[in-house]
Amino acid sequence: MTALGRTLAVGLLGMSARVVEVEAHLASALPAFVLVGLPDASLAEAKVRVRAAVACTGLAWPPRRVTVNLSPAALPKHGPGFDLAIAVAVLGATGQLDPERARDTVHLGELGLDGRLRPVRGVLPAVAEAVAQGRTRVVVPAADVPEAELVPGAGVIGCATLAEVVALHGGEVDATPTTPVPAPRTSTASAAPGGDLAEVLGQPAARHAVEVAAAGGHHLLLTGPPGAGKTMLASRLPGLLPDLTEPEAVEVSAVHSVAGSFDPSGGLLRRPPYEDPHHTASAVAIVGGGSGWPHPGAASRAHRGVLFLDEAPEFSGRVLQTLRQPLEHGQLVISRAAGAARFPARFQLVLAANPCPCGRATGKGLDCSCTPQARRRYLARLDGPLLDRVDLQVEVPAVRHLTGERPGESTATVAARVAAARTAQALRWADDPWRTNAEVPGARLRALLRPDPGLTADLHRALDAGRLTLRGADRVLRIAWTLADLAGAAAPSREDVGRALLLRTRGARP
Ligand SMILES: [Zn+2]
Repeated sequence: MTALGRTLAVGLLGMSARVVEVEAHLASALPAFVLVGLPDASLAEAKVRVRAAVACTGLAWPPRRVTVNLSPAALPKHGPGFDLAIAVAVLGATGQLDPERARDTVHLGELGLDGRLRPVRGVLPAVAEAVAQGRTRVVVPAADVPEAELVPGAGVIGCATLAEVVALHGGEVDATPTTPVPAPRTSTASAAPGGDLAEVLGQPAARHAVEVAAAGGHHLLLTGPPGAGKTMLASRLPGLLPDLTEPEAVEVSAVHSVAGSFDPSGGLLRRPPYEDPHHTASAVAIVGGGSGWPHPGAASRAHRGVLFLDEAPEFSGRVLQTLRQPLEHGQLVISRAAGAARFPARFQLVLAANPCPCGRATGKGLDCSCTPQARRRYLARLDGPLLDRVDLQVEVPAVRHLTGERPGESTATVAARVAAARTAQALRWADDPWRTNAEVPGARLRALLRPDPGLTADLHRALDAGRLTLRGADRVLRIAWTLADLAGAAAPSREDVGRALLLRTRGARP
């Protein structure tokens, strides 16, 4: 009898996957079951599940000392995805399946106590890594087959039960077909929200701001009373953005796979995602983490798409603080004793805010019951490092006269202009690390315009009058470049700079 069984699994920490060798050794000693190789708490539970599943499958658990080693040992191993590989390695060691046939196959899946295979998160990045390492034969739970098959070159075998896997590897077992465990869908993938820009009534200035945001990749703050259409405007932004590139589609789909929000039936996610967490959401729900295996939060699920914070001043200060990390670095790092989990989080931020806590403040202060102090404090919660990164800060006034309003342009019409503007930026910044105007540092923008000081006369006047900070001036220049790109011009005109100043109605005030 072989006393050694080996097979493969994949470990995931953040978005980085590693192929893990799972080795089971049987020793003639007092019966015991030992897992080694930095297992976390969930691996201890794996022992219970694996033993029960083996018994329910009608196979014998060896009455010996069973040692299962996961290597490389230094790699943190999280999650329930190791159950199947552990069972296969142990059964290979006992000779109840052919260890040679199981050896180079990658096994992913959680085991139910009844021996059925349960789907796991992160199948897409796990299979991609296995294939990249030349391990193309992959056994996954039946419900995970559509996701695994999205990886080019993967030889995917779906199984509903441990018995089917044992039979696959030449074991003698009763593998009666069973209904597979369906994939859990805690939340559906954040498909681009429905609705066309043409449905937004009135608000020509705010519509234009959304178009400019889409064209230049600018973060956006919308302030205005409830019912002015801020949420509707924000939800139209993803529809204006270009399709994800192939590498982006793989990356975004992998994040949603790990988050448990990926529906593989439509293939890879090819449209920018949209996430709109509620202001009562915890920091973990927004930036990711959680106990045990760290999961990506809304900010990562919005990667390459839009993160919309409605009633932004109502979010906890801690949440608003933690958003600085992804805004600066495009990723979130979650520290664990076993290592750091990294999730990409390069999103376009849209903040919406009422003008005051009660929401009824207008220019004339009608009906508003808030003290001037409360009003100042309210918006001040957003000020500082967060708003420093928001190029577009516009007011969305209440809509008063809707009758006779002509319908605005459709999403398709505006998206075409956005696409052309994006192409112009890609060409201009081809030799630079940035792709959109929003990413360009201020010094570079100023240098580009230096030959024509007349162009920025209005900007300098605003600076001299103290109506604009230097940082604010940089943001105006970024927007001016985007306006020029939308107009198909080679460089911003004086009018573009003037219009860019108007798109900063909030920030341009002292
Ligand atoms: Zn008020």
